[in-house]
Amino acid sequence: MHIADPLREANAKMNCLFVLLFYFCTDAFAASVDVKTYSGYREYQVTGDKESLDKFEESVRRFEARFQEQFLIKRYSATSLQTLVSPELVAFFDEYVQKLNLRATLIFDDISEIIQQEKAPSLRKKGFSWSAYYDIDDIYGYLQNMSATYPQWTELVVGGESYEGRQIKGLRINTPESRTEGKPAIFIESGIHAREWITPATTTYFINQLLTSDNPDIEALRNQFDWHIFPSVNPDGYHFSFTKDRMWRKTRSKSSNGCYGADPNRNWDYNWLKHGANDNPCDYQVYGGSKPFSEIETRTLSQYISNVENLLGYIAFHADAQMLLLPYSDSKEHNDNYNDLVTIGKTSLDYGYKVNHAKYDGPATAAEVLYKASGGSMDWVRFALGTQLVYTYELRGYYFYWPPALIYQQGDEVTQMMLGLFKEAGNLGYYK
Ligand SMILES: [Zn+2]
Repeated sequence: MHIADPLREANAKMNCLFVLLFYFCTDAFAASVDVKTYSGYREYQVTGDKESLDKFEESVRRFEARFQEQFLIKRYSATSLQTLVSPELVAFFDEYVQKLNLRATLIFDDISEIIQQEKAPSLRKKGFSWSAYYDIDDIYGYLQNMSATYPQWTELVVGGESYEGRQIKGLRINTPESRTEGKPAIFIESGIHAREWITPATTTYFINQLLTSDNPDIEALRNQFDWHIFPSVNPDGYHFSFTKDRMWRKTRSKSSNGCYGADPNRNWDYNWLKHGANDNPCDYQVYGGSKPFSEIETRTLSQYISNVENLLGYIAFHADAQMLLLPYSDSKEHNDNYNDLVTIGKTSLDYGYKVNHAKYDGPATAAEVLYKASGGSMDWVRFALGTQLVYTYELRGYYFYWPPALIYQQGDEVTQMMLGLFKEAGNLGYYK
């Protein structure tokens, strides 16, 4: 008996379409990328048992690898994921969900409306603010401005370069009144995944708090450490997500087969390509690059990080699984100060919770609460440099969307999380 396989049928249909359009489309694709509107794309939450969700994800990834991206899956836990479904594939999606006994809940009927609202000009205030999202040049302008306003405390620093020739700019905050030998350094990495817009926004918010707050605890936090803060370590990808494709995640390097970008958080030289990444340059999400550090962004940034003296802490911000992750992301084995990292992480989350009562999962390794992923920055830093306090915060949101009017909420949360983290780290003797 023939049992209909929706994936195979859709593949066959796409094959025909692909052959027909191939000669007409390839040149146009290579020459320029139009703005992707996501008109009519639906966002679904899909839940079910782990095996069925794994099977669903696996089939979709095969599909995506073959025919450009159509679904954009984001796994939130073993038993839940969110996905965008283009209008052409809704029927296929429904059929497959049914076949695997999954439950699908519609979250947004048309994601393009959200994308338009998100960039409404009325949200922008003169200069820089935290009620709107800004493109990379505006973010760099803000850093420049702060370095000019606080020349005694800050320095505009360059952490590396991008494929398209941008600098990866950051702000070093190192106040002179406590500039002593051996002052511990903290590195903050943000925006490595282009579409996670809330992360550069909260990171600049945190910078603003460090520099302008008169809260004595925040002043102490500012003076205690030598901060190296980089709001967007994937500036090409961020700019592309801002101007062309809101869901862009990778860098913008060009592969020999004409596809663009690698996942910069699968490209670091630690267990590269072992879990949660692949070697297909056309994979929209988790192509690990042609080799470890193939991307100039990760290569140059890793050199900068290696040169930071007395590096005590490395904090990476992502969105939006709402959890706190510890190294190593591809193993359930615990590293030697795991218990301390959990204690410190819990205090950090407690501090954050008091602001908006938003509950985060963890602290735990990604392998335990999310999925195994190798080649990430956090794991490389821990392994290669032995940095003691290494964390990844997955901030909040709905498929990379967070209302611009509410950026301050997560900004305040993150500020408190940092206060909690370093207070507990001090209690446990990680610095004096
Ligand atoms: Zn991310």
